[in-house]
Amino acid sequence: MDQNCEDCRHLWRAYAAATSDYFSVDAQLQAAAGKDNFEAVALLIPRLEASEETKAAVRNALRQHEEETGYRCPPQSTGLCFRGGRVLAFSV
Ligand SMILES: [Zn+2]
Repeated sequence: MDQNCEDCRHLWRAYAAATSDYFSVDAQLQAAAGKDNFEAVALLIPRLEASEETKAAVRNALRQHEEETGYRCPPQSTGLCFRGGRVLAFSV
């Protein structure tokens, strides 16, 4: 994670949002299950799965970004270090 890298910031924000969404749906699911509200449980399970997929996709994008930049993002935000899998020159 590099504070100066636009891509890192974007990816971390997306990851934080995906994680918070996941836990929110998970809490709703547990509450519904605790009340034997099977109708709500049936609705929430696919939402939880979708949320988990989003979280995993963002995590993969983050990992890919870290690998592509060798954990060294540009010192200035160029927005170029993570674009469709391309690895661009960056200063150390
Ligand atoms: Zn970065």
